[in-house]
Amino acid sequence: MKAMVYRGPYKVRVEEKDVPAIEHPNDAIIRVTLAAICGSDLHLYHGMMPDTRVGHTFGHEFIGVVEQVGSSVQNLKPGDRVMVPFNVYCGSCYFCARGLYSNCHNVNPNATAVGGIYGYSHTCGGYDGGQAEFVRVPFADVGPSLIPDWMDDEDALLCTDALATGYFGAQLGDIVEGDTVVVFGAGPVGLFAAKSAWFMGAGRVIVIDHLEYRLEKAREFAHAETFNFAEHKDIVVEMKKATGYLGADVVIDAVGAEADGNFIQHVTSAKLKLQGGSPVALNWAIDSVRKGGTVSVMGAYGPMFSAVKFGDALNKGLTLNMNQCPAKRQWPRLFEHIKNGHLKPNDIVTHRIPLEHIAEGYHIFSAKLDNVIKPLIVPSAG
Ligand SMILES: [Zn+2]
Ligand SMILES: [Zn+2]
Repeated sequence: MKAMVYRGPYKVRVEEKDVPAIEHPNDAIIRVTLAAICGSDLHLYHGMMPDTRVGHTFGHEFIGVVEQVGSSVQNLKPGDRVMVPFNVYCGSCYFCARGLYSNCHNVNPNATAVGGIYGYSHTCGGYDGGQAEFVRVPFADVGPSLIPDWMDDEDALLCTDALATGYFGAQLGDIVEGDTVVVFGAGPVGLFAAKSAWFMGAGRVIVIDHLEYRLEKAREFAHAETFNFAEHKDIVVEMKKATGYLGADVVIDAVGAEADGNFIQHVTSAKLKLQGGSPVALNWAIDSVRKGGTVSVMGAYGPMFSAVKFGDALNKGLTLNMNQCPAKRQWPRLFEHIKNGHLKPNDIVTHRIPLEHIAEGYHIFSAKLDNVIKPLIVPSAG
């Protein structure tokens, strides 16, 4: 089969690989019909995620058709059209039993602090991902769900991570009626977080980024007020001014360890290997929220040191809510919003790229060319 393969920082290509085989009775093999490149894949692409091995296939956002199931699989059969959450999880451990699927204790032999994620390095379990023609899905009775008949492939694909994570970010904000919600980052997750904040009763939603075309999307798709931090001397001061000098009730960090355009982070992370995540957006969040407010974090942060302004967070009495999204837990509500027409996830899709051209896709996304917001990968289009 054809699969995206990592060859080193900024080097990916499509290679022939063996079609994955059933390794455990509860595995399924999925023929991928649609995948995506996620902003967090860029951390891998830039060589900033520990233990990203040459030969690894990325891709934690994918949907497909069941090709083959192991002998104990009961919920899926060949031919089923399924969506697969980005988390690999067992469904029965202490954490899964509490809905904390992203914190599953049984799926990652390489780390205890992080669960399993498809195509996200050996730090996250070493599972090959879905930027390929086929992918092995463990715990096949647990993660995958049938895609509802009425749902578009692209909308289903976006539920596997970006939309679920954005919605989760808004949930972690504990938004109450009338709250002013600030979202740092107008990438796919930030756009979905901003949109979701309205569903949860926000009275005002402000999105901050430095890419004007993304801010335009935030105004159009998420009906948000926008600020371009590159046009202001101090974005925190602007947020204070915009909120009567109190600060926002809720601030969502949808940037995480953003790898582009941040010189300080680039030098410390990529060159000196000192720091796994840029805390710039997080520190702006801590500074922009009002005392007693909530900061929500669901971006991708590396396991290494991040210089967070923890003392300020303490002195302001903040609540910091954070986790990787347990994607499937969000699906019932997301399905309702999509079915009711309150939300059209694929409005944010900008590129549909054949798998064969995925290297170009990574380059476009990494360099933020061609007004890219969300690039999809189409395995059969080559
Ligand atoms: Zn993702
Ligand atoms: Zn588990």
